[in-house]
Amino acid sequence: MKLTISRYNPEKDKVPYDETFEVDDTLIKHDTMLLDVLHLIREQDPSVSFRFSCQEGVCGSDGMNVNGKNHLSCITPISSLSQPIIIKPLPGLPIIKDLIIDMSLFYQQYQSVDPFLQTEPLDIEEEHLQSPKERAKLDGRYECILCGCCSTSCPSFWWNPDEFAGPAALLAASRFVIDSRDIKHIDRLQELDSPTRTFRCRHIQNCTDACPKGLNPSRAIQELKSIMVKDL
Ligand code: SF4
Repeated sequence: MKLTISRYNPEKDKVPYDETFEVDDTLIKHDTMLLDVLHLIREQDPSVSFRFSCQEGVCGSDGMNVNGKNHLSCITPISSLSQPIIIKPLPGLPIIKDLIIDMSLFYQQYQSVDPFLQTEPLDIEEEHLQSPKERAKLDGRYECILCGCCSTSCPSFWWNPDEFAGPAALLAASRFVIDSRDIKHIDRLQELDSPTRTFRCRHIQNCTDACPKGLNPSRAIQELKSIMVKDL
């Protein structure tokens, strides 16, 4: 099996270049994941760099672009990928080394939507109750693992990274906008009511297609826009 990996070492390379590695097919089992194969490649060349941690699709650290689509390598069966396998870093953010990108802007966008519950009173002894129906509205929004696969597959994010909040941040924003316990509903909507911050989304669905957790940021953004029209 051959895999072509984008290599870039800022200490010696001016631009990224591709390097092809060969892995013994007998080492590949039916449940071998792409991350397992990357570990085999690193046994050949320890300088190949990529992020990983939990290896269970929970930490979200091993997002990468594989054959033109963003994936989490630890939950991508190698058998699901067509050959030749071409691996690049997540697009649209600066490359630190090989498949490792600088996620700072992605986290800044997330931070900008105040992704935490704001309630009153702040007495921690008091529960902030929700009905089962109110709680159910959060499903499909709170499960995000911040892997970045959605935002880095979005042309609006590539072209307006300082202005458009991106699918992951807007999904998080929608989670708190619809939370019955949050007291900043209108403030949050006013912050997001901008031609660039939210309405730059054109719903081309790349984000939803890329999400390894099966979430639907595009639909969440559409709902966010509808709530703005209704409540502002
Ligand atoms: Fe990753 Fe999905 Fe969250 Fe986007 S919405 S950051 S793709 S888990």
